[in-house]
Amino acid sequence: MTIISLSNRQKQIAEIVRLDGPITGEHIAERLNVTRAALRSDLAILVMGGILDARPKVGYFYTGKNTLGMLMEEISAITVQDLQSMPVAISHDKSAYEAVVTMFLEDVGTVFVLDENNLLTGVVSRKDLLKAAINNSDLRDIPVVMVMTPLSKIIVAQPEESIATAARRLINNEIDCLPVVKMLNEGKRQYKIVGRITKTNFTRLLVDLAEGKGGNYHNTEE
Ligand code: ADP
Repeated sequence: MTIISLSNRQKQIAEIVRLDGPITGEHIAERLNVTRAALRSDLAILVMGGILDARPKVGYFYTGKNTLGMLMEEISAITVQDLQSMPVAISHDKSAYEAVVTMFLEDVGTVFVLDENNLLTGVVSRKDLLKAAINNSDLRDIPVVMVMTPLSKIIVAQPEESIATAARRLINNEIDCLPVVKMLNEGKRQYKIVGRITKTNFTRLLVDLAEGKGGNYHNTEE
């Protein structure tokens, strides 16, 4: 499948043709207050992408791909690495108290824990720390490794995968955040952390898509 990312202008054209097609290039240009020549490349992209078709003497008409289809194409072209944020991590020899401080300083809800080789060894969330705080009078005495979710249970995302599968993984596992990792050793859980993907990333994406800024996330036309 050819995946194209449409500019706002192209989306406007597609919407005009969907509502009022068949319509000539001149009429589309009039509606947008631009010259016909200015629209040439946008129309060519829309025709190549299969969203519009053109018939001589009739003009442009809509092929039936609706805006939802266009939105789905837009989303399916975005990968985890396009959406991810910077990871926030602490070393395995720190205390639960230091994990709390990191959460506040870095303004995150999930902190990754690194082993002596800087590879992922755990994940600590707000609830893990609240639980530790209920059971212990001083979190300075509690090693973060005692309260974290260990590597064997960690659910990860990979940079090249689609954001839809990563989002599904968040929902299915009822968690807020996935470490984005590069696997160092196929089949073994040896992960170098390259990012994090959170519910906030998806909320921001939704807002951007609604405001027609989905193209910010991927500038490649594959
Ligand atoms: P919160 O504690 O803020 O509700 P989560 O819902 O993400 O945050 O965390 C719930 C539990 O799941 C915690 O015990 C946390 O350590 C664990 N957890 C968080 N992220 C992951 C992950 N990517 N893989 C496995 N477990 C995770």
